Amino acid sequence: MADLRDFSRLCIHTMTHKPWTLEECIAAYTNAGVPGITVWRHHLAPQGPRESGKMLADSGLNVVSLCRGGFFPSLTKEGRQAAIDDNLRAIDEAAQIGAPLVVLVPGAAPGQPLEASRDQIMEGIRAVAPHAMAAGVKLGIEPLHPMYADDRSAVNTLRQANDMAGQINHPNVGVTVDVYHLWWDPELEGQIARAGKRILSFHVCDWRTPTRDILNDRGVMGEGCIEVRRIRGWVERAGFNGWIEVEVFSTEHWAEDQPAYLERIKQAYLQYV
Ligand code: ZN
Repeated sequence: MADLRDFSRLCIHTMTHKPWTLEECIAAYTNAGVPGITVWRHHLAPQGPRESGKMLADSGLNVVSLCRGGFFPSLTKEGRQAAIDDNLRAIDEAAQIGAPLVVLVPGAAPGQPLEASRDQIMEGIRAVAPHAMAAGVKLGIEPLHPMYADDRSAVNTLRQANDMAGQINHPNVGVTVDVYHLWWDPELEGQIARAGKRILSFHVCDWRTPTRDILNDRGVMGEGCIEVRRIRGWVERAGFNGWIEVEVFSTEHWAEDQPAYLERIKQAYLQYV
């Protein structure tokens, strides 16, 4: 098993440093010896995917994934088609920046049963999977914590994501394991083992007590109650030895000095992951 006392598997999401532009993220991660980057689509927007792809290729950073696609459910047929079209664009953008994976936040539509949203998520993924395959891009279904079941994800456990990936049964469709969303689940260890080679990516951060904002109050590893290292052991035993991606949305941390914050993330990675 690769030793994590170095940074060879460390990837950081650009959203972790939301105040920075893509160019600033690239410069800072390169200077800090962080070899992996996951790019959020709003970091692509100012200069477009083609120019972003060139900047990333020139940097030598490994582009780990594009965040995010998904949000398939809608109360209207037009809304569902718009979501499919947007996911086709996300796949194209991933290919343009050299990202092998689009992470899917599945979505949910308030006003219809969660089962209906889940059916629409399956339909949406089935509709875009052939395009993903043609583009050489994989799709990771990311279950979100149940507190987001109203409008962000009708897929709330790894069991549900595994069931979906199994039913879709497409070589380009797998799952993303994010400790923030899944740490509480008594079935997690078993479902990680079941996912096995379907695990396409692994996201880390921490759960703060109290959580003051359900979207933007994540902690850096070690600031909360998630046993990140233990869960990392489970995903590695399942056969995953890819990137470990730090994804922290935090109004508090975004307000700090970003270079110092990046150094703290590196230390936390060594100490707690
Ligand atoms: Zn995540």
